[in-house]
Amino acid sequence: MKKVIILMGVPGSGKGTQAKKIVEKYNYGHISTGDLLRALEKNPNADPKDKEKLEDMKAGKLVADDLIYKLAFAEIEEYLIKDQGVVLDGAIRNLDQAKKYQDFFVTKNIEDDVAVVEMKLSDESSFKRLATRRVCGSCGLILPYTKETENLIVCPKCDGELIIRKDDNPEIIQKRIEEQGNIKIKPILDYYKELGILKVINAERSIDEVDEEFENVMSNY
Ligand code: AMP
Repeated sequence: MKKVIILMGVPGSGKGTQAKKIVEKYNYGHISTGDLLRALEKNPNADPKDKEKLEDMKAGKLVADDLIYKLAFAEIEEYLIKDQGVVLDGAIRNLDQAKKYQDFFVTKNIEDDVAVVEMKLSDESSFKRLATRRVCGSCGLILPYTKETENLIVCPKCDGELIIRKDDNPEIIQKRIEEQGNIKIKPILDYYKELGILKVINAERSIDEVDEEFENVMSNY
């Protein structure tokens, strides 16, 4: 398996769900920059200047690149030191970030050990999924809206409280799709295609089908 697996895709494409599977199955570290930012928001000892930058997140916009590098590179280093693989979930959202991460991988001598998987989903499906999903406030499990999950009142994994994320409301979702939808991520995907490290999974299908295709892709890394 490649040391770094980058998951790309519009919000709601299933990056978080697949990242958690890689973690469980292959003992990889999981870096979700969204989770790192939400943790920063809750941390009373965090640098107030960094916290100010979170206003963009609340409005559905991307936060400043320098904050992303500060949080993500430190985490990646920690896993590299332990010689553990790492899966990056939503950690790269514009072309500048893609290039900066690539430079970072070059300085760490691991540029040949990087794979990118796009979970391909339309903007329409993205909207529908975000508007109907819930997440566990304790363990972070993502619960898509299905017949099996619609009546659940606590997390099936840890009994934690099921919540709707603050930025999963229709107005903010619309904004997130404008900022992070297919048009916006295309230049990043083109960049990785050019590097010859991009694989694409059709994320429109059922969870089981996506899981199966994802497994196939992973077994080739
Ligand atoms: P997520 O949990 O991945 O949906 O991310 C939640 C929010 O965090 C996004 O809507 C962005 O505001 C912000 N965010 C997460 N990752 C990044 C990134 N790599 N660059 C800029 N903003 C990010």
